[in-house]
Amino acid sequence: MVDHLANTEINSQRIAAVESCFGASGQPLALLGRVLLGEGVLTKECRKKAKPRIFFLFNDILVYGSIVLNKRKYRSQHIIPLEEVTLELLPETLQAKNRWMIKTAKKSFVVSAASATERQEWISHIEECVRRQLRATGRSPSTEHAAPWIPDKATDICMRCTQTRFSALTRRHHCRKCGFVVCAECSRQRFLLPRLSPKPVRVCSLCYRELAAQQRQEEAEEQGAGSPGQPAHLARAICGASSGDDDDSDEDKEGSGDGDWSSRVEFYSSGVAWSAFHS
Ligand SMILES: [Zn+2]
Ligand SMILES: [Zn+2]
Repeated sequence: MVDHLANTEINSQRIAAVESCFGASGQPLALLGRVLLGEGVLTKECRKKAKPRIFFLFNDILVYGSIVLNKRKYRSQHIIPLEEVTLELLPETLQAKNRWMIKTAKKSFVVSAASATERQEWISHIEECVRRQLRATGRSPSTEHAAPWIPDKATDICMRCTQTRFSALTRRHHCRKCGFVVCAECSRQRFLLPRLSPKPVRVCSLCYRELAAQQRQEEAEEQGAGSPGQPAHLARAICGASSGDDDDSDEDKEGSGDGDWSSRVEFYSSGVAWSAFHS
């Protein structure tokens, strides 16, 4: 399905159109052998609320961004290499049906499609591309994933101490390890999670204890039968580092993305019956 589009004029034009919609805010996307396979709007469950996002499936990457003006202007571009992606089907909630999770080591998030058919199309295309990428690179599927952030609205109280009640003054924070919504008191610690950031990141008290214990064990194993009771060298742990910097980089204020989308999903490959195919 990929090959017949590679090196075609129509493929180059489609990629150029995506680049032009993102403008200077996006990366160059044209690459030898890269094929744009489809695009469409999915609802992404963000920290504050679910928002429409435009998604582009290429044979090697998944690109998404916020919608300023559909098919004209997009912003906040994110690029995910497909070889790092695994998908997980999710049950429907009161707010959303046709959900699934896009998981990578750096970041995992939940999206939903307008219909079960669309969800099936997205998933089968993404998984096919992932399989091809893994075959091409000789890598094995990734097994470690970042925990998705639990949306702010999911809880009014800290999910660790279950005491602190959030308000305009008492901010919510997110543990980078488990994704729980926690209070400042329950997330004083920072821990280096190299998959997520070169700098130590906020973790909740429970995750901190687990990570620190794990680290002590790893260090003990490295030192062979090393002396027990030796104080753990918590090189990766930092206590009480500066607070703040808790902004979800994904929370773009602009591009609320109103407007209607006549076609929510569009795949370009032939040979498969696309529910929403049109040229
Ligand atoms: Zn708490
Ligand atoms: Zn945690």
